[in-house]
Amino acid sequence: MLKKGSKLYSIIHFKCPHCHEGEFFKSRNPYDFKHLSRSYEKCTKCNRRLYLEPGFYYGAMYVSYALSVTHIVTFILAKYILGIKMEFVNFIILVASFLILLTPLYYALSKITWANFFLHYKPTTENEKSEP
Ligand SMILES: [Zn+2]
Repeated sequence: MLKKGSKLYSIIHFKCPHCHEGEFFKSRNPYDFKHLSRSYEKCTKCNRRLYLEPGFYYGAMYVSYALSVTHIVTFILAKYILGIKMEFVNFIILVASFLILLTPLYYALSKITWANFFLHYKPTTENEKSEP
């Protein structure tokens, strides 16, 4: 289902949005606090610049916001659909706890999603010399 060429492939596998082969992050583990979702300046495989301009990844905040809202709405829907009875304060603590635990993952996902908005897939054979 997720083949090279789809943006979801790049996002799920943390691969370069341009060639879908090179690594996007210096560490594939979003919970590696030493690197904390640091991405390469250029793709290690196709040499495509991954920082299009200074402050490029500030825009990932919009994606992060959307992910957080989705997270909260999912918890609220699950609470009502499953009919879970819980104090409001406890529910907020539960949702916030999971949100805090998942923040490194959401950070990584929002950063690579943002990159995928602007970088488009081209198979490696065509973009060997790709330089923006
Ligand atoms: Zn690449």
